[in-house]
Parts: sequence; C-alpha cells; structure tokens
Amino acid sequence: MIDIHCHILPGIDDGAQELNDSLEMARQAQSQGITQIVASPHHKNGSYDNNLQDILTEVNRLNKELVREGIDLEILPGQEVRIYGEMEEDLDVDLLTVNNTGVYMLIEFPSSHLPRYANKLLFDLQLKGIVPIIVHPERNREIMEDPSKLYRLIKEGSLSQVTASSVTGRMGKKIKKFSLDLISHNLAHFIASDSHNTTTRPFDLRDAYETVEKELGTSLRYMLQENPEEMVQGKMIDKDIPERIKKKKVLGLF
Ligand code: FE
Repeated sequence: MIDIHCHILPGIDDGAQELNDSLEMARQAQSQGITQIVASPHHKNGSYDNNLQDILTEVNRLNKELVREGIDLEILPGQEVRIYGEMEEDLDVDLLTVNNTGVYMLIEFPSSHLPRYANKLLFDLQLKGIVPIIVHPERNREIMEDPSKLYRLIKEGSLSQVTASSVTGRMGKKIKKFSLDLISHNLAHFIASDSHNTTTRPFDLRDAYETVEKELGTSLRYMLQENPEEMVQGKMIDKDIPERIKKKKVLGLF
C-alpha cells in the first residue's frame, strides 16, 4: 500500500516534531501494510514554507534513519502546496511534484472557500503538464455546500484525494457520507492518510479501504488502492467520468 499524503518529515511543519515522532509514524504505517509514503510537508499555507531542495534533503535523511532502524518503509518526496497566484512562476524552483516525476502535484485550498482564480490556475498548470490533485475537498466549506464546484474542476482535468479518516467516520458522519458520495460519483481518485501523528491524526488507511469496499464494493476499493502505484511513477491513473452529486433542495427557498 502507498500513502500519497503524509506529514512524516520531522520538525518542518505541524506533523512529526522530532525524529522519534517520524519513526513512530513509520512503524504505525508499516503495521498497516504501507510500504511507501509520500512525504508532503505544507508549503505557503501561511505558517510553513518548505521548498523543493529542503524537502529532498529531509527525505534523504529520513530514509537513512529508517534503514538504520531496520524499518522497511521508503519515503518519497512530495509537497502539499496551498494554492497561490504565482504558482506557475515557481514550478521547478520551489514547487515539487509527487515523487519528483513532474506530473502530479498535491494542492490544498483554504478550508473556508475556493479562491476565484482556482479554475483558471488549475487549468493553466495542466497546460504545463502538471496534473493537480485537490487534497481533502470533503473538508472545504464551499465544496460541501456546492459540490458542483468540485465537479467542474474534475471535469476540467484535476483529480482529488479524500482523507482516510474522513472516509472511516473519525471526522464525523456528515464528512464520511460526503467522502463516500465523492468517491461513488467519480469525484475522488485517491485516499491518503494526511497523517500528522500516531494519536489524533493517525494513518487509518487500511480501515478506509475496507470502508469503501463495504459501502461501495470491491472494484472501487482496488481502483483507489492501485491509483497511488501509478501516480508515484508519474503514469496515468484509472478514472471514470465524473457525475454530479444531486443536492436536496432546501425547503423554503422555492
Ligand atoms: Fe496535509
């Protein structure tokens, strides 16, 4: 199993604070059957900046520690980029794609809204060969209120990743239902842990795949579970045509 979104690098964001935290997270991941983790520290989110070179250095360092500790897990480089207007200028300089293949990039929206320029920017990035992966759309207030906004982005070529603990119900029933709706309407293409620690933000990845299998069937589970393998190699993933989520009309408006 491959986890494509995780804050496992020590001391550079709100994930692992020291090497020991990283090692504990690595052991928890390994116990769930995870063999590779894309380290995706925050970048440009207002609190943390972690650019390409720094991340590559930290990934090398942590991989050496894992070997020394005898933990059979490989860390791949990645970055969780908070969307900002000048992303195109910073591609190749500060910004890092998943496993540095030049294809997939994890992009985060502010939790409250969707910036006005998002559609154009995500489209322009694709013209430069980047496939945007919108991370945890199920926790964005504007998308929750109007899922057609995510539908449009996916229709225009972006992909999305829901968080494992959203799928399992750890984040609440509403978020669980919405996450499963996104998956069943082909509006989410990956599940990842977004783990920050082993207690309050753990991996939950195996549980999430089991939830998908139970609620939506085996074939969706395996599609979601295999997509990360293609993604880290920069290859095309498996996806179906996105469908709109029909929202119930609110009484009183009509
Ligand atoms: Fe994250």
